[in-house]
Amino acid sequence: MAEAALLAAEYGSSVAQLLHGHGYGPGHSVSARAVSEGVWRKCPACDYVGAPASVANHTKKAHAAVGEQAPGVER
Ligand SMILES: [Zn+2]
Repeated sequence: MAEAALLAAEYGSSVAQLLHGHGYGPGHSVSARAVSEGVWRKCPACDYVGAPASVANHTKKAHAAVGEQAPGVER
């Protein structure tokens, strides 16, 4: 788990390629697998899935008007 998170932090969006290199083809549920392993996060407000940084960026853009900001998370 921790190793996976480190991988995600280090490789970011290339995690998919990483998984592909480990035998996960495009037809497999790479996203679901990555989420279940803690490598990726799922947006709590929609079905967007991606690396933690990507989800944070997506949340800012797509859900900025929701007003559900968590003080202390982004410092
Ligand atoms: Zn979203």
